[in-house]
Amino acid sequence: MPPVWAALLIRLTGATLAGLTFGAIFGAVAGLAVAAGALLLMLLAHTVQLARLQRWLKAPAERDIPDAWGAWGNVFVDLYRVLRHEQKARARIEADLEVFSQAAEASPDGLVFLDADDHIAWCNRVAEQHLGLRGERDMGLLVTNLIRLPGFADFLASAQEGETLTYRPQDRKGKVYAIEAIRFGRDRKLLISADVSQVERAETMRRDFVANVSHELRTPLTVISGYVEHMVEDAAPDPAEWKQQMAMVNEQAGRMLRLVDDLLTLSRLEDEAQAPREEEFDVRDLIYEISAEGRRLSGGRHSITCEVVPAFLKGSREELHSAFSNLVSNAVRYTPAGGRIVLHWALRDGKGVFSVEDSGIGIPEEHIPRLTERFYRVDRGRSRESGGTGLGLSIVKHILLRHQASLEIGSVPGSGSTFSAVFPAWRIRPLGEGRS
Ligand code: ADP
Repeated sequence: MPPVWAALLIRLTGATLAGLTFGAIFGAVAGLAVAAGALLLMLLAHTVQLARLQRWLKAPAERDIPDAWGAWGNVFVDLYRVLRHEQKARARIEADLEVFSQAAEASPDGLVFLDADDHIAWCNRVAEQHLGLRGERDMGLLVTNLIRLPGFADFLASAQEGETLTYRPQDRKGKVYAIEAIRFGRDRKLLISADVSQVERAETMRRDFVANVSHELRTPLTVISGYVEHMVEDAAPDPAEWKQQMAMVNEQAGRMLRLVDDLLTLSRLEDEAQAPREEEFDVRDLIYEISAEGRRLSGGRHSITCEVVPAFLKGSREELHSAFSNLVSNAVRYTPAGGRIVLHWALRDGKGVFSVEDSGIGIPEEHIPRLTERFYRVDRGRSRESGGTGLGLSIVKHILLRHQASLEIGSVPGSGSTFSAVFPAWRIRPLGEGRS
């Protein structure tokens, strides 16, 4: 198609020629009238097309592009081409944006994009959870009005690379987030929030553990060093007194040894890479061994009996010996003289249940959920007096966990307690069934 100016030139030439021809035949007036009429028609046609263009521009849509003839046809075809190009470019940008927002949504960290004035431009769902934001509602709002955290505004204004601010939401206990602010583009910022609750918990546990171990070791060490100092300074020691003091030193050293042994056992058990041995053994033999040990520990102060069914258990005999004897030793230590202790081995819905029932001092209900924590004791004095390290039930819990078994504790203060280890059915083979 010819360009607009060429089409206009052709039409103007046509109108002039028509005017000249009519002028030559019918006189100058007729010629002028024809030329003027032709120009008027041209003007009308252009005005109509201009009006269509104006109407279309108010709501431009590809499918509504006016269909025109002549030079206007060219204009509209060009318009159509530009529009197509624009639409393709927009579709590409939208697709890229979609991929980008999907990637940002998939991030395990919270992401908040801020504009140059710290208004929220976009945030992902994780950021909504971490920082209590709501994407739709908070879009365009000043972030410092939404994240109410002392020092946050200063942090945002001057945060250096790698610097983080800790956020502990008051309505979600135990949750801790580390917020980082990264500058990018022209004065824009990206806030990244990471859930560090686990790390923080592990760090607190580690600190508590070190403090507990130090405290547990310090007490016997203080006693030992006191006696040793006294013995060194005593110029004329009385052999009887000396012997008594040595006995005390020996007792405290024994306490330290037990503690270190239990700590080593715990650290071995916590090594998940080392799975327990899988051997099948007759639980009755193990229980008889343990009850004999219990009787030795009790020194005849308790009645210790066994009620067992014939069933085999699959697991590490050595570890389970340690777990079961810990429970029996606790029963002996926390049951006053004259009390009764029964060791049960029974089957419940195919599961194997080893339990130690005592008629001892019992445990108030509020302590029960915490008994397996390291160094947790209901009565610190009583535990120490009876040679406890505060690690026994923690060791039991770990051994049972390694055998996919659970620990159930039932107790009535003043009447006694029952500690039960419940083993999954696949670890049990009732006697009479073939070996698997
Ligand atoms: P400990 O060395 O102090 O006995 P454990 O981890 O074995 O440590 O037990 C933790 C605490 O649980 C004990 O200090 C004691 O208060 C309580 N406890 C454990 N077994 C019994 C029981 N059979 N009867 C009463 N209290 C018990």
